[in-house]
Amino acid sequence: MANKTRIPSFTSNVNRMVKRAMKVLKIEPGIAQAIMSCNSILQVKFPVDIKGKVEVFTGWRATHSTHRLPAKGGIRYAPIVNQDEVEALAALMTYKCAIVNVPFGGSKGGLQINPCDYTRDEVELITRRFARELVREGFLSPATNVPAPDLGTGEREMAWIADTYKHLHPEDINYSACVTGKPVHHGGISGRKEATGRGVVYAIREFFRNTEDVKTAGLNGGLGDKRIIIQGLGNVGYNAAKLLQEEDCARIISIIEKDGALVNEKGLHVESVKQYMNEHQQTVKGYPDARYIDNGDTVLEHECDILIPAALERQITSENADNIKTRLIVEAANGPVTFNADEILQQKNITILPDAFVNAGGVTVSYFEWIRNLAHIRFGRMERRYEELRGKIELSAMENLTGKAVPDLFYAELARGADELDLVRSGLDDTMRVAYQELKETFLSNNKVTDLRTAAYVVAIDKISRSYYDIGVF
Ligand code: NAD
Repeated sequence: MANKTRIPSFTSNVNRMVKRAMKVLKIEPGIAQAIMSCNSILQVKFPVDIKGKVEVFTGWRATHSTHRLPAKGGIRYAPIVNQDEVEALAALMTYKCAIVNVPFGGSKGGLQINPCDYTRDEVELITRRFARELVREGFLSPATNVPAPDLGTGEREMAWIADTYKHLHPEDINYSACVTGKPVHHGGISGRKEATGRGVVYAIREFFRNTEDVKTAGLNGGLGDKRIIIQGLGNVGYNAAKLLQEEDCARIISIIEKDGALVNEKGLHVESVKQYMNEHQQTVKGYPDARYIDNGDTVLEHECDILIPAALERQITSENADNIKTRLIVEAANGPVTFNADEILQQKNITILPDAFVNAGGVTVSYFEWIRNLAHIRFGRMERRYEELRGKIELSAMENLTGKAVPDLFYAELARGADELDLVRSGLDDTMRVAYQELKETFLSNNKVTDLRTAAYVVAIDKISRSYYDIGVF
């Protein structure tokens, strides 16, 4: 893999991509600077007693934009997390929310920690202490700044954060909206855990619905016969790969993990690889039904139809971009392709579905969860049985008029009211489809926009700048 020290920083990569889009829009320099700047960044250092020894932890929370409130974005736990990374990810959140029409500003947080080095109780202690710091410094509340899961964090961390906020602010009736991605029994929403991965799949499906775009990418046919390589079988990668395999009949020919890659041209069984990882300390080494390649990064360069980086930023750089042999890159991770690599891939006519669009499913369903928390009611609770009754009345009218019985399969579907999961999936699907069409329209209507990433940033910056022009800069 490329030497990371020689690769431009994550923030500089994002800013260069944004500047490319700003040139197309001809934004006033002051407004451009205001949009690109990170509003505020908090660094905290706090001690925690671990097994009788005091350890000091470092964490960040960046608020990139507040043109919409609350500012929204995940919290990642990783040993190598740093301020630059958190600022870049916060900026991506601003653009992402604008692209999928989610009315939030952009934020991101990070804690320098390897969660695997600590017991569950220790991680809880550290998380609650970090949450207290964020609340005290005004970087966590349902109205202003709402975190979510990211690398190394999940439902349990979100539940601890919500509970800590509740204890500090028992008077806030909306306390559970201070964080999203909570377990369903603690105010979470059905379908949030899978949302980013499912959103990735909805983005790919929408791309394949547009046959002319598929042709331009040098592909043909449907998603069903496509050979896919995926990097990272974590939350996003696993949910995306599983759906692509089980619902779209795509072939996952390789899974690249942190300790090596599995390759099987006939297709890997995603669920059994995941199960194997869970039973073997998260390693893929030794999985029986595949060839194991020690240096997993080299598999990014294998030939395939669709390459899905779903692990980390800066995986495809100017050092390996020339060797990439796919037709379509779907950026499920944040920032997996650097600016320089992006330019090389464009020259190679490789189509990229950009991160700020592709992985926006998480924040979209987080938005649904936040609304659910503020409304204090689960989606579908009022109308589900009513819809069921209407369906049954319509079916019996149909049967009376035709004298024929409706087949069982249709009967069951038509005499059913939508539950929360149905509504969440429908809202997510609609969001990804509408966002893709907005990107495409921008791409087609402006000859200075030569790729979908620039189109995505043009869409985002246009919306954000309008809000600056409408409200004014104070
Ligand atoms: P995760 O921690 O659940 O999974 C990451 C996976 O990548 C793990 O299986 C890990 O072992 C693997 N990995 C780590 N380093 C690797 C390497 N060098 N090569 C190959 N695999 C490696 O994290 P996640 O939540 O799935 O997030 C993945 C990416 O998606 C990140 O870029 C994150 O910012 C982005 N993202 C996540 C969400 C979300 O809802 N979780 C939302 C939007 C974007």
